[in-house]
Amino acid sequence: MRRPFICGNWKMYKTVSEALAFINEAKGLVADAKDVDIGIGAPATTLKSIADAAKGSNIMIGGENCHWEKEGAFTGEIAPGMLVEAGCDFVIIGHSERRQYFGETNETCNKKAKAAIAAGLTVILCCGETLEEREAGKTTAVVTDHVKNGLAGFSPEEMKKIVIAYEPVWAIGTGKTATPDQAQEVHAVIRNLLVEMFGKDIAEATRIQYGGSVKPENVKEIMSKPDVDGALVGGASLKADSFAQLVHFNK
Ligand code: PEP
Repeated sequence: MRRPFICGNWKMYKTVSEALAFINEAKGLVADAKDVDIGIGAPATTLKSIADAAKGSNIMIGGENCHWEKEGAFTGEIAPGMLVEAGCDFVIIGHSERRQYFGETNETCNKKAKAAIAAGLTVILCCGETLEEREAGKTTAVVTDHVKNGLAGFSPEEMKKIVIAYEPVWAIGTGKTATPDQAQEVHAVIRNLLVEMFGKDIAEATRIQYGGSVKPENVKEIMSKPDVDGALVGGASLKADSFAQLVHFNK
């Protein structure tokens, strides 16, 4: 059985004080959630403070990006080891906003994910098609390209630290959610691709999250699909009570 993983992605929202207020409220609201992994991906400036605040709770903290080098002349970048030192458990790699606005490619995602795992982080690797790509019948090709090249050269050991997030770009922040059947269809494509690439055992063990306008009102139905193992959530993760409802999707 794959353990569900509900993860917030705050993007470029929340100051340190706002982030701390969230964690201090959310800790109590999700403390009873035993059968689910819980994470918050947060802006770099908040990570150390909220990781300290989350210590001893069941909330994991993660970065939203990292570089592949350990250190160097890369102004503005953050090394995986720096995220670890700040108290992070995971990092989100290849979010569509980073692909769209910051030139992220499958090759950079691959290097970043490898480096992050080597530093001890879990990686949430994002993939997903745009509306034009979906309408042109290219969803499978695009998602296959993202996953195949993003995970090229990964060992079975490295795959233990990989979570995949299927996030159709047309559903992110738009209020349009993929139907549970649309999500399941693509998740099954990804699962089959993982079988081809890494064999059945690894494919069965790897968690695939859905992301794209997940809210308390639709999370249960999406999570009911057999290949949907969690959610990566932007907007609805910004308020502690809404986030807690997502975590309690089964109630
Ligand atoms: C995201 O940021 O990854 C996301 C899915 O955003 P939203 O839930 O707001 O669509």
